[in-house]
Amino acid sequence: MLTTTQTIAWLNNFADKIETNKAYLNDLDTPIGDGDHGSNMVRGLTAVKATLADKSDADLTTVFKAAALALISKVGGAAGPLYGTAFLEMAKASKNGDADLDPLLTAALAGLKKRGGAVAGDKTLIDVWTPVTAAVQADQLTPAVISEAVERTKPMVAKKGRASYLGDRSIGHLDPGAVSSGYLFTALLETVA
Ligand code: ADP
Ligand code: MG
Ligand code: MG
Repeated sequence: MLTTTQTIAWLNNFADKIETNKAYLNDLDTPIGDGDHGSNMVRGLTAVKATLADKSDADLTTVFKAAALALISKVGGAAGPLYGTAFLEMAKASKNGDADLDPLLTAALAGLKKRGGAVAGDKTLIDVWTPVTAAVQADQLTPAVISEAVERTKPMVAKKGRASYLGDRSIGHLDPGAVSSGYLFTALLETVA
């Protein structure tokens, strides 16, 4: 069961990882995008941190919703509405009193797929969310599951987002959104699991 305290700790840890890796994420987004993924995410996670500062007594739904709104309004680019949708779906899923990670991530992944139209193998953050959600369902999430999922985006041909404009030239690069999602789940393992 996920608590408000754990979730705030999770998201603050995610924000710290994004801040630390801002330049790296921008660098990953340069050859196959427009070089702004780190800057976009830092803007969003700074807002997430700020809005969560006074949420320690709030319920889980309020916490996820506040995070979603901060991400949607501040990240910009493709990643903002996608991460925002994921957290909005977690807010909705937690309304049934269901604060287990498994149904939360399952709902978030379904929302991400619907919102972005990407499927596994398209070289997007879906390629991390899919195996991580499956691992959580099987109660087997490990750092290796996350890092292997991120690495597997390297040889893929991008089918969605800006990187898809490059076709085969997107091969050989990690997907920046997959890497930032990797930080989200590493933060989860460090704080919750
Ligand atoms: P932008 O491409 O608008 O500059 P960002 O650089 O912040 O936005 O985010 C790019 C990331 O968003 C990609 O690396 C990819 O993981 C993700 N992405 C882009 N389009 C989609 C999509 N349709 N479905 C899922 N993820 C996507
Ligand atoms: Mg970009
Ligand atoms: Mg952009």
